[in-house]
Amino acid sequence: MIHVTEEQSVPAKHGLLENVLQQFNHAADQIKLNPNIRKILEVPNTEILINFPVKMDNGDVEVFTGYRVQHNNALGPYKGGLRYHPTVDINAARALAMWMTWKTSLAGIPYGGAKGGIKLDPSKYSISELERITRRFTYALGENIGPEHDIPAPDVNTNPQTMAWIADTYMSTKSTPERSKNMHVVTGKPVGSGGLEGRDRSTGFGVYLMIRCWTEKMGETLQGKKFIVQGFGNVGYWASYFLMREGALMVGVQDAYGSIANAEGIDVEKLFAYTQINKGSIKDYAQASSIENEDFFELDCDYFIPAALGNQITKDNAPHIKARLIAEGANGPTDKEGERILLDRNVTIIPDILCNSGGVIGSYFEWLQNRNGEMWHLEEILERIEKKMRANFDKVNDYASEKNVDLRTAAFCIAIERIEQAYILRGIFP
Ligand code: GLU
Repeated sequence: MIHVTEEQSVPAKHGLLENVLQQFNHAADQIKLNPNIRKILEVPNTEILINFPVKMDNGDVEVFTGYRVQHNNALGPYKGGLRYHPTVDINAARALAMWMTWKTSLAGIPYGGAKGGIKLDPSKYSISELERITRRFTYALGENIGPEHDIPAPDVNTNPQTMAWIADTYMSTKSTPERSKNMHVVTGKPVGSGGLEGRDRSTGFGVYLMIRCWTEKMGETLQGKKFIVQGFGNVGYWASYFLMREGALMVGVQDAYGSIANAEGIDVEKLFAYTQINKGSIKDYAQASSIENEDFFELDCDYFIPAALGNQITKDNAPHIKARLIAEGANGPTDKEGERILLDRNVTIIPDILCNSGGVIGSYFEWLQNRNGEMWHLEEILERIEKKMRANFDKVNDYASEKNVDLRTAAFCIAIERIEQAYILRGIFP
């Protein structure tokens, strides 16, 4: 295992890291962050890079690279997802770990921020290969994760099954009496294996709630509103499901394979059923027309939900976006230039660290459920997520109006101030 330093870092995509640092520095200037605390927060506490071998179904061995970046734990154990994607590298993990620190701080839950994953395209591997890859990576991470230390969760291309393998591997390496105490080493587990009812929908539910809160603030309702969604995975699907249930129309969808549109509305459930028999993709869905990927951004709509990867909204498409509201389901979907253009055009952006925080709030409830040996019910869980997220929405909006800043800056300022306060109270060891 190699603990990566800046000098050792592998060639990487710098976009996400530049984006989050720019957001951080902008907010830090705004609140005149204590310069010593700024130095601490600009870099992650710990960076782990692991090259590990796994036997493939055909008997060959393949070596994979996995990452875990632990950015900050001033407010509690490190928390954040693991993603399986070819774009995963040390800088992506750094950026995503930082976003988790701000997200958990803003959410008001007792966690720090971390992120990681494995650089691979999961569609190229069988289920049993993915299981061995996951288990071997978990084993290699060893005590770098732990229920009171660093708690992974699902992210892009990982799911409850992945979390069940991690929990089982982690617990299996403990002595018998310790095993059952370690269930909360990961969240987002399958219901029936320590998972929380509704954790599957909690991120998408939160995105829908934020859109609803904004719409109510504008004195409007969701009935008849049009939305487009980029990414029809867990977040995109559930956000669309809840919006459609309230009478909104999904008029365009884009995924990694193509884009579709129908101004009359696309049935969310039927599209989801189609993706289940179409290798997970929306491509060629018969009740919508296929459109060019660039045209997707220009579709006529009220809301745009980016729920895929980072840096999707850029200077190239931002001038053409018709939506009045961007609800960031993904982490870091809007780059700096794209954001400037949208704000100048008076498009509201509900920032990722607020908009998609339903996921980690759901994770927090799962962690508490496991820790306390409790069983929570779906209605109660959704109600609790709603209460927390509505309060956070109001907090960010009030701050933005009071200081005359955009919502992202407001969200970052609140998040950073909470961490600054923690450092001021406890001081720096030794
Ligand atoms: N991967 C999700 C996120 O980016 C969830 C993290 C978690 O629940 O720890 O917020």
